[in-house]
Amino acid sequence: MIEVDEGLRTSSYVIYVDLPDNPNRWLLLHGYTGTYDVVSRRVAAYLRSRETVPVSKPLYGDWGPEEIRADSNWVPSNSTLATLVKRGYLTEKPRDDEVTFFTSIVSRLHETRRRAAPHFVIMPTYDCNLRCHYCFQDHMRTDPRFHGLLRTMSRDMADRIMAAFPFIEPEYHTYNATGPLQRQFTFFGGEPLLASSRPIVEYIMRSQQRQCSASFSAITNGTELEAYEDLLGPENLSKLQITIDGPEATHDQRRVYPDRTGSFSDISQNVYLALHKGANLQIRVNVDRNSFDSLIELADMFISKGWADDPNFHVYLAPIQDYSGLKNAGTRPDFFNYWELSEMLRKLHEREPKTRVFARVDGSLRDRVRAVFKSQGPIEARTAFCGAHVSMYLFDAFGDIYACWDRTGDRNLRIGTVNEDGTATINGFGESWRSRSVVSNATCRQCRYALHCGGGCAVLAELSSGTMFSNFCSAFGKRFRTAIAEAYGDHQSKISQPRRSDGLILHSAYLR
Ligand code: SF4
Ligand code: SF4
Repeated sequence: MIEVDEGLRTSSYVIYVDLPDNPNRWLLLHGYTGTYDVVSRRVAAYLRSRETVPVSKPLYGDWGPEEIRADSNWVPSNSTLATLVKRGYLTEKPRDDEVTFFTSIVSRLHETRRRAAPHFVIMPTYDCNLRCHYCFQDHMRTDPRFHGLLRTMSRDMADRIMAAFPFIEPEYHTYNATGPLQRQFTFFGGEPLLASSRPIVEYIMRSQQRQCSASFSAITNGTELEAYEDLLGPENLSKLQITIDGPEATHDQRRVYPDRTGSFSDISQNVYLALHKGANLQIRVNVDRNSFDSLIELADMFISKGWADDPNFHVYLAPIQDYSGLKNAGTRPDFFNYWELSEMLRKLHEREPKTRVFARVDGSLRDRVRAVFKSQGPIEARTAFCGAHVSMYLFDAFGDIYACWDRTGDRNLRIGTVNEDGTATINGFGESWRSRSVVSNATCRQCRYALHCGGGCAVLAELSSGTMFSNFCSAFGKRFRTAIAEAYGDHQSKISQPRRSDGLILHSAYLR
């Protein structure tokens, strides 16, 4: 028999999601057990009243006055209480003990994730043929003090870098000295696919294809892809991320050559070429408040060119971020944060269905939460925000190794070097990058969304609070609850009514 006064409190990691079409039902998720359940409003209110930490406001409406009082008279039945305990929503652990417990399980999970397969990023050069005003590397091309950085990787350096892979790989679970070797490469810059870099890019690709099963992608501006025509396609450069910042007139104001002429026409021809060769294209559209309205025209263009019908053509929006030292990035009046952009696009999709060519913002988050409901299986715990804290290695033309795309080019921030004999040395700064997880700062470690969020971008965290060992939330809680409410709605429409039990409708998913 469970009595409410036996010292039970609501776990600090319960996520409450209000369901827009059903004001009497709430979706509960537990942030580390992975449990999820739909409960009656009064069960949610009961848990809410036994919270010891502040809880976010509902997405739609508000908590009623009776639901925020800790002395609410209504108490669930013993069987419901037992279920709430069993599924982690009620706990006997004092708050600090629960945080300690969370920290210990996440630390172990992060160690495992750190040992997953490495991802090698090759930077043939920091040089670029465009001068986009928002580029975080702009100073390298415009300030003569950085011109030494603009050289192209030599064949000797490429050999040294490739010789270093076997010194790094034994750190990882996927490494099997005798089995088939698989490697994953991304080319990044500067602009990695300049015509002048073709010999070194081809040299690296062919060398790796002889040694292992290698997959190649590139983050490219797409202006000189014609020089890579025979290297594009499923067997070679199979995935390309290309930026188009609006219809021709808008794009040509933003993505310009040094003489200020626009790049739209060159990119457009190369999009045709890459699709023809069977490459998978992820078109990134950087938007701010000044360019948002041009998205309708851009959608028209994607449709009229026939690209929107190609299964290899995908478009997503990204808010332009301010990496230039502005405090609280995302707060510049002409910039969106992710939540604002997500809401603007949702409304635009309703108003102008053709704009559905642009994938919803937070697509990967939506995929993750949909997968939970679909399989009723484990939630994939996101112990850190990005590959910089796990297993990403960026190699530049000087043999310097970095963890984060944004920190490349500043040798003070490198995490290691490739030595002349082809060995690699990783320094203490590398360990620092890899150790950033959701339990390495006090705010994230107490956050109910932590294992879905990952703690936010380290660079933006450092810009806004002075240390990368801090949180960068970017409205994650709202974005998560919106995505999960939608995914649950979709899931419900496809299944028969779930089982009810004394105010609870039970589902289950457990942390992997
Ligand atoms: S830390 Fe931020 S900028 Fe660096 S790779 Fe991760 S998400 Fe990108
Ligand atoms: S960044 Fe914010 S939302 Fe994400 S885990 Fe940390 S505190 Fe939570």
